[in-house]
Amino acid sequence: MSVPSAYALFGSSRASSAASTSTELSAFASSEALDPQLQNFLEEASARLCEWLGSASKRSPLPALRLLPQAFPEPRGVSADRLLDDLQQLMDGAYQPNHPGALAHLDPPPNTASIAAELICAGLNNNLLAEELSPSLSQLERQLCSWFAARFELPDGAGGVAASGGSLSNLTALVTARHRMGLDHDPQAVVLISEQAHVSLDKAARVMGLEPDGIRRIPVDAQGCMLITALQDHLQLLQRQNRPCIAVVATAGTTVRGAIDPIPSLAKLCAEQGIWLHVDGAIGAVFALCPGTSRLMEGLGHADSITVNPQKLLGIAKTSSLLLVRDQSSLEQTFHTGLPYMEPAFAAAHGGELGLQGSRPAEILKLWLGLRQLGEQGIHAVLEQALLRRQRLQNCLDPSLLEITSGPLHLLACAPLGADAPRCEQWTAAMRHRLLDQQIMVSRPVYEGRHRIKVVLGNPHTSDSLIDQLGTQLNDISVGQS
Ligand SMILES: *Cc1c(COP(=O)(O)O)cnc(C)c1O
Repeated sequence: MSVPSAYALFGSSRASSAASTSTELSAFASSEALDPQLQNFLEEASARLCEWLGSASKRSPLPALRLLPQAFPEPRGVSADRLLDDLQQLMDGAYQPNHPGALAHLDPPPNTASIAAELICAGLNNNLLAEELSPSLSQLERQLCSWFAARFELPDGAGGVAASGGSLSNLTALVTARHRMGLDHDPQAVVLISEQAHVSLDKAARVMGLEPDGIRRIPVDAQGCMLITALQDHLQLLQRQNRPCIAVVATAGTTVRGAIDPIPSLAKLCAEQGIWLHVDGAIGAVFALCPGTSRLMEGLGHADSITVNPQKLLGIAKTSSLLLVRDQSSLEQTFHTGLPYMEPAFAAAHGGELGLQGSRPAEILKLWLGLRQLGEQGIHAVLEQALLRRQRLQNCLDPSLLEITSGPLHLLACAPLGADAPRCEQWTAAMRHRLLDQQIMVSRPVYEGRHRIKVVLGNPHTSDSLIDQLGTQLNDISVGQS
């Protein structure tokens, strides 16, 4: 086997590697007394993290590739000092979400309380698999899921479960829907999604073993929202083809432009036909938490299941996603196995019988602490200010030069008006490059066959002047012209 060239990046020079016995860190904390080495180590590690977060604006959101520390263990363990140096090297090469110009993706600065909660979560090392391994935290998860369900106007009896990311929440929802529809063993079953639904649903279909045509993409209107008439037509087609339907998936906030499918009409149609409605609200469902924005999520309470990702706009440290269900017992029925090696649960089922994951961390801890830190007002501010930033950028853009593709949320995409695909590719590549030189990071997804510049305005550090600067740059449609 030849040595890959990247190998040169590993295990090379290191700033300081002097082992010092005074900082020898025991692999397991003392159970007899406070462990001063551990305390020093955590304090030093958190000092470096605070420095990293606090110096964000002096660097770029996207650092150049740097040296990496050695990836594998050495015969003898290394000192605490070296561990910290290695950590520093990795941090120096990390994407910097705390930079005001980090606007490319749905990855905002981390909520500060959720950072601390993640540390505590690791230290507690509880396991949401079973109540006896996480007595207080299992209860907290149930309570917080119930709170979300009520805020989303799901009825009594609703609940949910935390999952490591929206992809897993969506998969869990579809597996639950299939079970409740009595289609577990029917390879002919079909899921209906919008043309602009998230790729995680394609993955879910593969995992579930659906036929290649088991996932049907329904056309959207000019605003990127699922066409209800096209959905009706397709449901009739399924009947003619004798193909049963697992679920209709409405997207509340599409990935490129933040479009919201017409949830009230979809809910009505699904109720009439006895079809499960799943709302993929990984981006948008959080807007239901604020009276000023909740009209955007009208009808959410009619869904059978809802994915919400507090790790996105709310900034809860990754991963933070919940699947909420109209009927908590649907999760228990779908995933119940019994855990014969555990004491019985106080609730109907253990945390490990509510979804696909077995052992899992108490991700609920950081969501709980972050939301408590923000309070209702803080949550509202995060949501409303994101919408104001999108509006401001939109106002800066010249519609006689740019085709602006947006929706009611905090995402916006654009490309030179009337430009063909090659020109859009060229413009977006040159524009991204130019903006990165100004420490503004945007992305360039392909949308309806052409590259766009996409901006996600969920970063609370982004100032009005930075938005104005970005708008001025984007209006330059000559960039990249040879
Ligand atoms: C982000 C996203 C997902 C997937 O969530 P992950 O946490 O990345 O797995 C699903 N649907 C939509 C609409 C998303 O934006």
